[in-house]
Amino acid sequence: MATYTPMIQQYLKIKADYQDAFLFFRLGDFYEMFFNDAIKASQELEITLTSRDGGGEERIPMCGVPYHAAANYIEQLIEKGYKVAICEQTEDPKQAKGVVKREVVQLITPGTVMEGKGIQEKENNYIAAVTQYDNQFGLALCDLTTGESLVALCSSFNELVGELYTVGAKEIVLSKEFPENLRKQLIDRCQAALSFEENIDVDVDFIKITKQLKDEKLVQTFARLLTYLQRTQKRSLDHLQNVTEYYLNDALKIDLYSKRNLELTETIRSKGKKGSLIWLLDETKTAMGGRLLKQWIGKPLINQKLIEQRLSMVETLMMNYFEREDVRNLLKEVYDLERLAGRVAFGNVNARDLVQLKKSLLQVPLIDDICQSLKNEQFLIDSLDSCSDLTDMLEAAIVDNPPLSVKEGNIIKDGYHQKLDEYRDASRNGKTWIAQLEQQERQRTGIKSLKIGYNRVFGYYIEITRANLHLLPEGMYERKQTLSNAERFITPELKEKETLILEAEEKIVELEYDLFVTLRENVKQFIPRLQNLAKHLSELDVLQCFATVSEKRHYTKPMFSQKGEVILKEGRHPVVEKVMDAQEYVPNDCFFNEERKLLLITGPNMSGKSTYMRQVALTAILAQIGCFVPATKAVLPIFDQIFTRIGAADDLISGQSTFMVEMLEAKNAIAHATSQSLILFDEIGRGTSTYDGMALAQAIIEYIHEHIGAKTLFSTHYHELTVLEEQLSSLKNIHVQAIEENGKVVFLHKIAEGAADKSYGIHVAELAELPKVLINRAKEILQELEDSSKKLQKSEDNKVVIKEEEDVISQLSLFEETPKSSTKKATVNKNEQAIIEQLKSVNLLEMTPLDAINELYRLQKKAKQ
Ligand code: ADP
Ligand code: MG
Repeated sequence: MATYTPMIQQYLKIKADYQDAFLFFRLGDFYEMFFNDAIKASQELEITLTSRDGGGEERIPMCGVPYHAAANYIEQLIEKGYKVAICEQTEDPKQAKGVVKREVVQLITPGTVMEGKGIQEKENNYIAAVTQYDNQFGLALCDLTTGESLVALCSSFNELVGELYTVGAKEIVLSKEFPENLRKQLIDRCQAALSFEENIDVDVDFIKITKQLKDEKLVQTFARLLTYLQRTQKRSLDHLQNVTEYYLNDALKIDLYSKRNLELTETIRSKGKKGSLIWLLDETKTAMGGRLLKQWIGKPLINQKLIEQRLSMVETLMMNYFEREDVRNLLKEVYDLERLAGRVAFGNVNARDLVQLKKSLLQVPLIDDICQSLKNEQFLIDSLDSCSDLTDMLEAAIVDNPPLSVKEGNIIKDGYHQKLDEYRDASRNGKTWIAQLEQQERQRTGIKSLKIGYNRVFGYYIEITRANLHLLPEGMYERKQTLSNAERFITPELKEKETLILEAEEKIVELEYDLFVTLRENVKQFIPRLQNLAKHLSELDVLQCFATVSEKRHYTKPMFSQKGEVILKEGRHPVVEKVMDAQEYVPNDCFFNEERKLLLITGPNMSGKSTYMRQVALTAILAQIGCFVPATKAVLPIFDQIFTRIGAADDLISGQSTFMVEMLEAKNAIAHATSQSLILFDEIGRGTSTYDGMALAQAIIEYIHEHIGAKTLFSTHYHELTVLEEQLSSLKNIHVQAIEENGKVVFLHKIAEGAADKSYGIHVAELAELPKVLINRAKEILQELEDSSKKLQKSEDNKVVIKEEEDVISQLSLFEETPKSSTKKATVNKNEQAIIEQLKSVNLLEMTPLDAINELYRLQKKAKQ
């Protein structure tokens, strides 16, 4: 190996410990990167790649960013999922013998970043650790920005993945021994950064926050996370809250697929918030409330008492409009106390943050007054700890508008500290003395424009313009500086005062900084109380948010039935209703009971089947998070799990085909659903050929009916399946209506009992303005198929059997139709003859697509008579 220079050797040694991170190597005013780091960083950050001689045979690739602008570059790398190790000089270069000592002072990673673009106000930033124990997985979560620490035991790998997805973990810490195939799935599915840590013993300083944990597995898993944080952050983690164990069984379970499908927190297509349930609901006024809302949506409750408690609180807030509006206005003024506490612990709050803190705390007694005035058996709320001792402390110490910098003074109030007041007096007196001197010298010399100024190089000086110089007696002052149009002078007296003033000012700045740091340390002791207050305020915020949305959108308080029945009167899809304007949305009822557990939904494409199914699921979820629901009456059971198979979104991330995803989702539901669950299967079997698909769909329906008994909404384009109603006792057909109105096909979006008569695939294709020629051809093919190819017969045992005459139709599911089971007579009656004549006379080329549909619709209707 070529002999590198000592500095490059030092670099390589440090880099060896941080293989998976960009090493920001401090060199004077820059952070430099070398070798592959440099090549990659120059691309990712779009900065110039250079090279330097490092003693080896070839020049070493290098790029760098200025130290003062590093934050922005680090942010960009973290945003892209990378890690950055910050390596500083740890001794004064002037005193160093040989190469300056350097050390990594912090490893910044997606899961540990404290500020910047990656940190969303209303989102938690979780880092997770996982330990495998046979079939179980210990899970530890921590949000460093808020100090929240959680642990849970997952009873399967799927459960673990679902949970990590729900909380949106940004980084996962594992043992190197964690099985590789599982590791890969975890990282892929959660799109998280990967890190390793082997130690599973809790540091003695942190035993106090884990002592309430009973299960050693959880303690170990938390220890893995904690050790990783200590090792990489190398700074105070004092704000970590007591570790709370939570139980996945305490929540309504919605697996990963279903959470995505139901678009609870992001839409499938854009992955953005807009159009999701949280987008509709978010009327929170604080960042903490926004985060809690997301947590609640991720984990609806299953304990009726807890749900009803929330609902009662929401009801009270809903009925008291003025109080609620006041609370909302007050909450708006409340700063993010949780994250502030985190930054206090990390030691990076400034004086402005503390003023914000004070202002926030000043709102608390007002909020508390309102809450206490509403208090009754419906609205049980603890009184809020406004931390008035902290407010007083901050009020006494910090001025109202401090500067951003904490090292330039002007932070601490007069009267807070005696010594500081003395220095300030000295400085102020000095300045008054100087002002007086100016007056005095003007009179003495008769020069009106004489002035006393100050600059950093010469200090205080007396300035006289050139035009007035002749008025000044020679030798009165000591000449100091000559400018083009003025002369500057000093006097011994002036210099004496100057020394006093400058000394005082220097001391003021130093002392203010010290006082500020002490104050900041003192605030640390309030962290647990602030966190507790934050918790109460964020709950109140989410409850007022529910009340606000419920009132604005005319939601109803749901009731819960023990008998497992569902009664939804005039239910709506909360998000579609909002998007499309409430007047246009057609409300629909939904009923389930013991005799009616499986609803088979048929109806034209685009008529509203998927919307209807989702609205039922979203209504159940809203009810179980404690919000009112979009209906005029709502009785619901408490569901234990919700499963969905909706949409054809390919799972691109994991590289599985649509049909595979479809089957995985179906399997997941079938394996885990109980009679207390809700299942939505939307057009299952679409991803394969007609007969495969139909066979699977039927088998799935039968299985759910016989073995599970879950409340199920099953939409299908296989009309053949509607005969199952005769055979399965608790299956009922429903359909979405379409009618002909003024000669036009109109989708009513209205659910009615019974099966739909047919599908309207070609109509929709026409509406989508596919070429006319193509549409006409499709109609021809359809006609041929109807006439000859496919015959459906009922066998003796009443099961649906398909007789295949030509193979070709199996791939034509898009255009398929339901032929009547009776064989058509070859003869053409009078009516039919008339229709044929009319059909012949239609001038297709002169018609708009819509006219064509309507004509077709009219003719078909006639043909059916
Ligand atoms: P399907 O699943 O039957 O193909 P969708 O549920 O996707 O139909 O609905 C198609 C469109 O119809 C939706 O995007 C929506 O704009 C509209 N729609 C659905 N249900 C309703 C309703 N109840 N009221 C008004 N418009 C609706
Ligand atoms: Mg659909």
